[in-house]
Amino acid sequence: MSKTWLNNNTILLNGKPYEVKYFTKNEKNDLGKVCWGEPDKINPLLIYLLDQMRGFVGSPFRINYGTQGVHSPNSQHYLGNAVDGYFPGLSIKEQFLIAIRFPFTGIGVYPYWNNPGLHLDVRQIHQEYKAMWWRDSRGDYQPMETIQL
Ligand SMILES: [Zn+2]
Repeated sequence: MSKTWLNNNTILLNGKPYEVKYFTKNEKNDLGKVCWGEPDKINPLLIYLLDQMRGFVGSPFRINYGTQGVHSPNSQHYLGNAVDGYFPGLSIKEQFLIAIRFPFTGIGVYPYWNNPGLHLDVRQIHQEYKAMWWRDSRGDYQPMETIQL
């Protein structure tokens, strides 16, 4: 299996080097651990989209979980296709409206995290719609149609 990172700030994207502007291989999360979990298991497309999104917004996006952490058994996290993170200082509504501008194929909205934020993934989908959901104050998953932003 090929590695994602060529060095601390370059990934191999579709066979070509791409210099990541706003994230690094060894970037730490709020817990002081490598934010990606296992950086070389992360899908390069995910890193590229996060970099584009971060550049569009112009303020940091903090990644707390990549392949590590506790997720549902078939989670995209374990495939290296997902991260959980947040834009410090932006409301959950602002974060969601930013994320949907980019071709992530899975977007989860988590208003009740300590730092409200998003799950973003690049799952392979076989229909034209993104997977989208939000998690309520009881920890239950809800369809996006029911969110109040
Ligand atoms: Zn997640």
